[in-house]
Amino acid sequence: MSETSEFDRLLTQLPLWLETSRKRAAEGKVASYIPELSKMPQSALGIAVLDANGRTASAGDCGIPFTMQSISKVFTLILALMDNGEAAVFDKVGMEPTGDNFNSMLKLELVRPGIPFNPLINAGAIAVSSLIAGADSEEKSSRILSFFRKLAGNPSLELDEDVYRSEAATANLNRSMAYLLKDNGVLEGGVDEVLDVYFRHCSIKVACADIARMALVLAFDGADPLTGESLIPRRYVQIAKTFMITCGMYNASGEFAIQVGLPAKSGVSGGILTLVPGRYGIGVVGPALNRKGNSIAGVHLMETLSREFDWSMF
Ligand code: GLU
Repeated sequence: MSETSEFDRLLTQLPLWLETSRKRAAEGKVASYIPELSKMPQSALGIAVLDANGRTASAGDCGIPFTMQSISKVFTLILALMDNGEAAVFDKVGMEPTGDNFNSMLKLELVRPGIPFNPLINAGAIAVSSLIAGADSEEKSSRILSFFRKLAGNPSLELDEDVYRSEAATANLNRSMAYLLKDNGVLEGGVDEVLDVYFRHCSIKVACADIARMALVLAFDGADPLTGESLIPRRYVQIAKTFMITCGMYNASGEFAIQVGLPAKSGVSGGILTLVPGRYGIGVVGPALNRKGNSIAGVHLMETLSREFDWSMF
């Protein structure tokens, strides 16, 4: 199918496919372990698909704001790689899927050296937060926000202060994990400071169009096709996309690779950032999650699109 006819079909069909997928939301559950997240609407589903000419096909509730949560981990990893290089980052965090929950600290005690298995589980992302350059948590957080604004082409990205405070007040598990990491010699700096950087980047508020634009930069190997600006070295995009394929969708990453076949990262707020290499950046939001923690309606919609347009990379 030619690029134009595919995009035309996307424009006309997307709202119909979205409404079919939206029905799945009733079977999911909105995350509540961060209390503020439970306010997200159960039946919401939105998507934005952005191409290299700046055309957008969007449908449903694509305008609702949501926090990036684990989606942010892809980009803090990239920033940490840009700040430190590969050797220093992978000295503190591994490259393997775990098979454990995103917030598990099981293997930090069982496996030596006690470094996290990968940068997309919480322990790994907390280790990565400590590698971001900056004199203190404020400077690190502001460098992360500036980087995300640049990638999203949106200078007004901000934190959702309520979600940030809600997570900071309830994150007992992440706190204990960070102390264990500190004891294992993985974290640079004070535990509270590192956690503050982590909670803040998880709380950056976006809409589907923002993460579609960030994904488009990854789809074009680090160069923003809309401005021609090179934002990320190609090697680091390659690393990030490989983690997205192998561990981006929690313990359903294998299933997503088989059913959809695209690099993706989801978050507990119901967001999914995904991309079709060399073609589209895609942002999805659907707060009702399946048992593996991914947006139940969002995954269904991506399965439909991948099948209809034969988008799988495999
Ligand atoms: N901030 C969340 C946490 O640490 C992110 C989890 C996620 O989206 O997977 O629990």
